[in-house]
Amino acid sequence: MKIIASNFKTNHTRKSTKEFIENINKFLIDKNIKNDIYIFPPATALDRFETTNNLTIGAQNAFYVKDGSYTGEIGKIHLDEFNIKTILIGHSERRHILGETQKTISLKFNYFKSLGYKIIYCVGEPLEIKNQGLSQTLGYIQKQFEGIDLDYENTIVAYEPVWAIGTGVSSTVEDITQIHKKLSKKLSCPLLYGGSVKASNISEILDITNVDGVLIGTASWLEEDFKDIIDIANSKN
Ligand code: PEP
Repeated sequence: MKIIASNFKTNHTRKSTKEFIENINKFLIDKNIKNDIYIFPPATALDRFETTNNLTIGAQNAFYVKDGSYTGEIGKIHLDEFNIKTILIGHSERRHILGETQKTISLKFNYFKSLGYKIIYCVGEPLEIKNQGLSQTLGYIQKQFEGIDLDYENTIVAYEPVWAIGTGVSSTVEDITQIHKKLSKKLSCPLLYGGSVKASNISEILDITNVDGVLIGTASWLEEDFKDIIDIANSKN
């Protein structure tokens, strides 16, 4: 079984998210899809969705508090309202665009770990690090595990090279194979790949040893595209 996760980022409204989730939910039931599907809508579109067992709705982000004075952030009570128990932490856009430090990321990880959340924890190197070679890349990723309990049983790690995210240019099969082989030696949890995954390349990516699934942004935002991706992944089971 594979894991197929969709990150809406700053896309979809409350209305379109509801339609999307309802339609994907129906699709999973009608087609008897067995893979684990995750959807991460924007915070404003979270709700109590009725979904089949293998469709999980998660939060793209939340602050490491129950509630309080953190303007613009949401906390545990806002996720509890919708029974959200899954969260993305360490996404490259939060690290590199929103300026989240490893310290903040580890505080989030530990807070949501203490609450028993399923955490999809993202790591990945920028282009200038990739260009320095494999050992620099692995060293960079190693630092992204600082303060993170890799033995936490409810973790999924997503390897997402920054230069492949939202660019349309995925990492090569050889590069993914190499990095996943190294990472899987230190991880006991499922390991996803993310970075310009789409219908045309998902099959070869899912075939790579140690790839337990994918985290997808752009190619998952249109319902028909996401259904195609789910279909292709399903045909490989
Ligand atoms: C992501 O947001 O995690 C991602 C992989 O985006 P994209 O598929 O657009 O590269």
